This record gives sequence, C-alpha cells and structure tokens, in this order.
Amino acid sequence: MISVRGVRKSFGSATVLDGIDLEVHRGEVVSILGSSGSGKSTLVRCINGLEKLDGGRITVDDFDVSHPKQLAEARKRSATVFQLFNLYPHMTAVQNVTLAPIQVLKQSRTQAESAARALLDSVGLGARADAYPAQLSGGQRQRVGICRALAMKPSYLLLDEITSALDPEMTAEVLSILARLAKTGTTMVFVTHEIEFARTISSRIVFLDKGQLVVDLPTGQFFAPDGGMSKPRIAQFLSKMR
Ligand code: ATP
Ligand code: MG
Repeated sequence: MISVRGVRKSFGSATVLDGIDLEVHRGEVVSILGSSGSGKSTLVRCINGLEKLDGGRITVDDFDVSHPKQLAEARKRSATVFQLFNLYPHMTAVQNVTLAPIQVLKQSRTQAESAARALLDSVGLGARADAYPAQLSGGQRQRVGICRALAMKPSYLLLDEITSALDPEMTAEVLSILARLAKTGTTMVFVTHEIEFARTISSRIVFLDKGQLVVDLPTGQFFAPDGGMSKPRIAQFLSKMR
C-alpha cells in the first residue's frame, strides 16, 4: 500500500500540498485530477522521495520515503513515468530499458536484454528496440518510458501526465497500453487531464484543488450528479475539460 498521511509541502511562502491523505492499495487504479498548479506533480514527487516533506508521512509498503535508509526500498517498489520524455538520448531503447535492471536489480545483461526486448515487443516496439530516442516518435518514446518503468517490476506504477505532450493519435497508442496494464491488475496512480480515459480505467478518482484533496471517490460516484459532480468546483472543472 502507498500511504500518504497529512502531507504538507510549501515552496517559499506558497503552500502546495496542504494536508493530503491518500491510500492506494494493490490492484487499484487511482486517477488524480485537478487543475494546473493544484499540486499533482508535487504529490507524485513526494511519493518518490524527490521532495522533502514539510509535514506528514508517506510510506510505500511500510517503507518511509523520508527515512534515508528506507527510501531505496520504497523506490524499488514504485516506478514513475513523467510527462517529458526523460530517456537517455545516447542510449538505444533497449539500453534505456536495461540500465536500471542491470545496475539496481543486478540482473545479467543477457537476462535484462531478453526481458527488455519482450517488454518492447509487448508495446509494439519490437522492431524499434535498437533505435535511439531521437529516432522515435513522442508516443514511441513514452512507450519506451513505460517499458523502462515496468522492467523494474514495480508494485506501483506512477504516471504523471504521460500523454500531455502527445498528439491525439500518439495519446491513443499510449493509453491503450495503460488500459491493458490496468486489466492485468497493475496498480497505478495516474495523473491525467484525460478525463474520459480516467473514467474507463480507474477504480477511484481523487480531485486536488489548491493543494487539498477535495474528493476521493469510487469512479462511478465521482461522476454521479449526487456524488463528486454535486461539488461546484468539480462540476466546473469537468465542464471545462470536456
Ligand atoms: P500541472 O497540471 O500544470 O502539471 P500540477 O497540479 O502538477 O500542475 P505542481 O507541478 O505540483 O502542479 O505545482 C503546484 C504548485 O507548486 C505550482 O504553483 C508550482 O508553481 C509550484 N511549484 C512546483 N514545484 C516548485 C518548485 N520546485 N519551486 C517552487 N514552486 C514550485
Ligand atoms: Mg504536473
């Protein structure tokens, strides 16, 4: 379980996370919605231990991300794909995917490569495994990014607006892979502006507004007129997004 308890984070005088409580259990797909600047990426960075918390506690399978000795264990359990393509430009797709399994999981090169090629194949990139990022489309790069995360066999996959820099066709390619992962029981925390897609794959939807978690509801209830939609802030957000 990912457990976020009373988490607070400020940058200077700006409070960006204002007491966030959230639990993500294995097998769940939780989408995080909210307008730009509401704190979604900061929350993901806090779960990764990339930001120092100003208050509260985050654990990943009981490992505290604020505890230097436990952070490595927490990080082994979750993997993140970010909005901007952060592949190593001087490495091929397969090299990008095998780097961490070799260095961190201590897999042999042969073992890591055959796993990487199988993963790339599963997202339709079998024939592009030896291409460099600059030779791939944006959608293909994000699919490599997903493979790189999955190669670490994470218990939790965190995805921060991974389609927001893509055109509709490339977005569809990437989302179809996420839909398949969701069906196979991969636990996901999915930060997105793709509301309709979030609706189809999520078990729960969380809405952040100005650093506060305004709503945390099963997906059906989130969209119900007497559920999340009864909150003016959410109805307004959804009407703008559609
Ligand atoms: P978007 O939908 O645009 O990605 P978001 O919900 O992910 O937005 P965050 O990136 O978490 O929002 O940012 C929340 C607020 O924190 C914003 O006002 C942002 O300017 C501020 N912020 C984020 N990172 C930093 C930083 N390193 N230093 C100062 N301010 C920051
Ligand atoms: Mg963001």
